[in-house]
Parts: sequence; structure tokens; C-alpha cells
Amino acid sequence: MEPPGHPARCHDVSTTPPVLAAELAQAWADIQRHHPELPDLAAPESLIGESSSACGAELSFERLLHEAVHGIAASRGVRDTSRAGRYHNRRFLAIAEELGLDHPEEPHPSSGFSLVTLNPEAKRRYRPTIERLQRALKAHTAATTADTARSFRGPAARHGSSEAACA
Ligand SMILES: [Zn+2]
Repeated sequence: MEPPGHPARCHDVSTTPPVLAAELAQAWADIQRHHPELPDLAAPESLIGESSSACGAELSFERLLHEAVHGIAASRGVRDTSRAGRYHNRRFLAIAEELGLDHPEEPHPSSGFSLVTLNPEAKRRYRPTIERLQRALKAHTAATTADTARSFRGPAARHGSSEAACA
């Protein structure tokens, strides 16, 4: 049963270690320390198991900082995307650069400056945060793939798929 306000996901909620959501909230708080205008992250667990979007496919600190760019843009009333939220425009890039993200390549034709990467200074600044989050993500991946990939639970379990059907 999903808690109210939590969108349905393909992933079984019971396999989501709460520790990862807590680590995401902690990493967000670390970003807020450097950028006090950044609003709170309302639902860190909503980033977990999210399918790929124009904002990127994989959950990482870089991705979290990308979300923080949107957070700061929202608090400043800046329209940082266009084309139904897909195209990350130059206003997005300007705030991303303030937060320590670079976009070394030409903008992507449909997602714009979405794929920003941590610059060396931000990597240094957030190193402990990045390492903690990486550990939590690894543990999370191990926990969510153990059922299907790592453990043999007998022929019955093996043939009966325990994977949720993604509608
Ligand atoms: Zn985005």
C-alpha cells in the first residue's frame, strides 16, 4: 500500500531501504548549507526508482545537484526549462554553474543543458557527501537486485517471477 501522495512505482516499496531516502535528505541538507536559498526536498524517496527523464537516468549526487538547480530556479521564479519541461535552457545552465556544475558540450537538441557534470571544485567540496551517498546507492542496488540475481531460492521461486510487472 502506497502512502498518500506517493506516486505508484514499479519498485516494491518494501525493497526500498529507508536508509537511502535518509542519505538523500542528508546530501540535500549539505547542498543547502552552501546554498541557503534552496528549498527543502519534499520527498527524497520520489527520486528512488524513478525511470529516466530529461533530467537524467541514474541517481547520483550529480543528479541530486541537478534537482537542486531546479529547486533554486523555482525559488527565484526563474523558468529554467521550456518545451514542456524537457529542454534545460541557458537560465538552467547559469544556476547550475553557480552550484558547481559544468556543461562542457553543446546543448542537446531536445534536453538542452540537462547533462551537467560536477566541476573539480564541487567534487572537492562535496566529497564526503558523494562518498556516503555512493555507499547508500550501492547497498540499495544490492538489496533490490539480490532477489533475482544473487540468490538461488529453489526451482519454484526461480520459475515464479517475483518481479513486479511494469505497466
Ligand atoms: Zn532537470
